[in-house]
Amino acid sequence: MHNRADAVIIGGGIIGMAVAFYLAKSNAGEIVLLEKEPVPGSGATSKAAGGIRAQFMTKVNVEMSMLSEKLFCSFKKDTGYDALFDQVGYMFLLKSEAEVASFTAAYELQKSLGLNVEMLTPEGIAEVAPHVSLDSVKAATFSHDDGLGDPHEFLSGYDQAARKLGVSIEYDAEVTEIKTPSGKISSVVCSKGEISTPLVINCAGPQAKLIAKMVGAVLEVEPIRRQIVTTGKLDFMRPSFPMVVDVSSGLYCHRESSGLLMGWADKAVLPSFDVSIDPDYTDAILERALDLVPQLETAEIANQWAGLYETTPDHHAIIGWEPSVEGLFHVVGFSGHGFMQAPAAGLVTAQMILREKTSVDISSLAPARFGIGKLVEETNVI
Ligand SMILES: Cc1cc2nc3c(=O)[nH]c(=O)nc-3n(C[C@H](O)[C@H](O)[C@H](O)COP(=O)(O)OP(=O)(O)OC[C@H]3O[C@@H](n4cnc5c(N)ncnc54)[C@H](O)[C@@H]3O)c2cc1C
Repeated sequence: MHNRADAVIIGGGIIGMAVAFYLAKSNAGEIVLLEKEPVPGSGATSKAAGGIRAQFMTKVNVEMSMLSEKLFCSFKKDTGYDALFDQVGYMFLLKSEAEVASFTAAYELQKSLGLNVEMLTPEGIAEVAPHVSLDSVKAATFSHDDGLGDPHEFLSGYDQAARKLGVSIEYDAEVTEIKTPSGKISSVVCSKGEISTPLVINCAGPQAKLIAKMVGAVLEVEPIRRQIVTTGKLDFMRPSFPMVVDVSSGLYCHRESSGLLMGWADKAVLPSFDVSIDPDYTDAILERALDLVPQLETAEIANQWAGLYETTPDHHAIIGWEPSVEGLFHVVGFSGHGFMQAPAAGLVTAQMILREKTSVDISSLAPARFGIGKLVEETNVI
C-alpha cells in the first residue's frame, strides 16, 4: 500500500467510487481509496432499489439528479464501461388534495428547471401502469427522464475506470484513526498501515458519522434500516412498467427481472446499524403492495433484504468541507438517494476540491448548515 497520497477516499460504495473517478479524471494527483470490506459496494449500495429520479421538491435536489441523469446517459462515453440506465420513468400517484397541491408546486419547479415531467389523469396512469389500482387516485406526476439502473454495474464501471486512471483501491482496509496535529489532517491509519495525506474525503455512507468522530467533528447522519421484498415471476408484468410510488402509503415498486420489487420507508424505525429482516416490516410492505397492485394476491416472495439509509435531518446530502478541521471533505447523508445522485456528487466534489466552479450550486448542502436555522427540507423521500 502507498504510504503517501494527495487524497485518501474512505469508502468504496457508489459515492466513493464516483468521487475517485472524477478526481482522477481531473488529474488530482495520487489518490488512494480505502474500503473496509473485501469487495466494493457491499454497504448501502448493494441494498439499493436502483431508482433514479429528478422529481424532487427542492431546486438543489432536482438539479443534482438532472445532472446525474445526464451523466448516467453518457456513462459509457465518459468511463468506457457499459451500464444500463433504463428510462422507464417514475410515477407519483396522488390521492388527496394536499398531495396534488404539493406535487403540482414541485412539477412547476421541475418544469422550470427543464425536467421532462407531466401531470397524468387516471386514464393516463392506466396507460403507463395498467395494473395499478386507481382507487381514490386523483392524478400523478410522471417523468420519462427518470428510471432504473443496476447500482453494481455503475459501481464496477467507476471502479475499473478509476483504476485505469491510476487510483489505488485497497480492500480489507478499515480506517481506524485520522491524525490531525494542529487542526490539519496529516495522515490516515487503516488496518493495512498509515498513509500520510493532507486531504481525506469521507464517503463512508451510513458509517460517515463515525469517520467524523475520529477528528472530533459531529456529523448529522444517522443509519436507518429500510427493507425490500421482491416477487417471483408475474405473468402480467411488462418491460415498460415504471417505478410507481403511492405517495399516501409511501409504498414504491418497480419491475425487477420478471417480477416486482417493493419497498417502503417505515418512519417509526429508530437509528441503528441493525440490518436484520423484521417480519412485521415485510408484512407492512406486502399489505401496502396489495392495495396498490391487487393482482399480487397470488404472487410469491422471491427475496427480501434490509439495508441502511444514511439520513440527515433535512433529507439532503452533505457535500463540503468540514469546518472544524482543515483537509476533511464530506460526501455523505444522501437520505435514500445516493445511488441516483452519485455521478453528480462525484463531479461536483472533484470541482470543489480543485477550486473550480461547480456544475450545480451546492452551497445549501454545506456541512455547516445544521444548527444555524437555514434548513430547507426535502419532503419527497421514499
Ligand atoms: C433498501 C434501500 C433501498 C435504496 N434504494 C435506493 C434507490 O432506489 N435509489 C437511490 O439512489 N438510492 C437508494 N438507496 C440509497 C443508496 O443505497 C445510498 O444512498 C448509497 O448507496 C450510498 O452510497 P455510499 O457509497 O455513500 O454508501 P455505501 O455503499 O454504504 O458505501 C460506504 C462504504 O464505506 C465503507 N466504510 C465505512 N466505514 C469505513 C471505514 N472505517 N474504513 C473503510 N471503509 C469504511 C463501507 O464498508 C461501505 O462500503 C437505498 C438504500 C437502501 C438501504
